[in-house]
Amino acid sequence: MTKELPKITTYNSLTKQKEEIVPHEGNKIRMYACGPTVYDSAHLGHARSAVSFDIVQRFLRYAGFEVTFVRNYTDVDDKIIQRAKELEVSPKEISEKYIQEYKDDMASIGVETPDVEPKVTEHIDQIIKMIEKILEKGHAYQVDDDVFFSVRKFKEYGKLSGRSVDSMLDGVRIDINEKKEDPLDFALWKGAKEGEPFWESPWGKGRPGWHIECSVMSTEYLGNNFEIHGGGKDLIFPHHENEIAQSEAASGEQFTKYWLHNGLIQINSEKMSKSLGNFFTVQNAVKRWSPEAIRLFFLSHHYQNPADFSEKVMDDTESSLERIYTTLKRASDLEKNSDAIDSELEDTTNKFKDNWFNSMCDNFNTADSVGNLFDLIRAINKSIDNNEYTTSLENALGEIKRFGKVLGILEKNPEDYLSSLKSTENLENITPEEIEKLIKEREAARSEKNWARADEIRDELDSKGIVLEDKPDGTIWKVK
Ligand SMILES: [Zn+2]
Repeated sequence: MTKELPKITTYNSLTKQKEEIVPHEGNKIRMYACGPTVYDSAHLGHARSAVSFDIVQRFLRYAGFEVTFVRNYTDVDDKIIQRAKELEVSPKEISEKYIQEYKDDMASIGVETPDVEPKVTEHIDQIIKMIEKILEKGHAYQVDDDVFFSVRKFKEYGKLSGRSVDSMLDGVRIDINEKKEDPLDFALWKGAKEGEPFWESPWGKGRPGWHIECSVMSTEYLGNNFEIHGGGKDLIFPHHENEIAQSEAASGEQFTKYWLHNGLIQINSEKMSKSLGNFFTVQNAVKRWSPEAIRLFFLSHHYQNPADFSEKVMDDTESSLERIYTTLKRASDLEKNSDAIDSELEDTTNKFKDNWFNSMCDNFNTADSVGNLFDLIRAINKSIDNNEYTTSLENALGEIKRFGKVLGILEKNPEDYLSSLKSTENLENITPEEIEKLIKEREAARSEKNWARADEIRDELDSKGIVLEDKPDGTIWKVK
């Protein structure tokens, strides 16, 4: 019972060319993506990476491959420890809180849960074993209670990033550590510092370095030489270069066959960063735009390219989505009343069906795939102008449904979707930002027990048609 599989090509960052994805065994694809370090709320950069590989795994499954998808959580790290100190809680409390938040945020934008979501703290034994193996093979060395990977002993170091070992010294932030034999070497195991979480190891109390976790957790669930490894372009060097070095030094086999890297998010053509103040968390973004619009924004860009996020682009994306849903609502308001064939619609539907699928087979090109949809939407509108719900319309809607299910969009009931948009559209004398600002002011007034001011703000919003509801975790607003 072998189903014929379509030919799917992808750009492989390792070989720097487009290649057909050919599994080692039958239709089985083993895939790993680097997940978040959980010390803060997820931002759009996290969302983009998650959506990129969500699309890859969804489409591969749809095309008939049997996919095992692993995405990790880095739940021990300097940043987590730092955050825990600031808030006077345990690192575990921080990581658990942000793992849950990450899951909720990604689910809100339609990212499916991977098959396995391993955490570093649950794989310390396996990490120790791999470090022992690397030491045995002579690719690492111990200094006191630290263990370092010896970069120059791994001859192929640099094969992913395309850099020569000597040129790397220029581009890297070298941490000053006189224990290292070479500035390029990196920590596999770090001796425990006062007040930090630690585990017992053959080298004393300590914790793993960052890179080793992905080598361990990917091969633990997928074996050596698994098919696909994904991550953001910012991880190519040094993280992914180090993953290759560690894994291949330990196993003597190729680590992974295809490396897929997603492009980064820019905000108004600038790098997104907290210090530039152009930072969007997923939660802020979904308050402002519908979650499907955010997903559609990602899908409208090829996953490998940078994606330039701006309020204008998002407003436009929201309008495009609204147009699609308006058409779907028009269609759903009709009842099937004709067996006629509308040959123009039929034709456009067939083209759409082939085109979006072929675009996805060509390096997961969601941008082209989504682009094809608008021709079909136009043809549907034209077809229902005469109030006929034909067999051709039924086919067209069925095809859109299938497309939406694979890409994780257009899955809402059109009526519900459109009425959820109305809540902000009907605002006349006030913008959502002004409302949020007044809510914050009211919260501040309430915490100072300035009830008069708090009531004044509530009345002011009420006069503009906004009702407030105080919930245990904050105040939400609705249009009257
Ligand atoms: Zn990783």
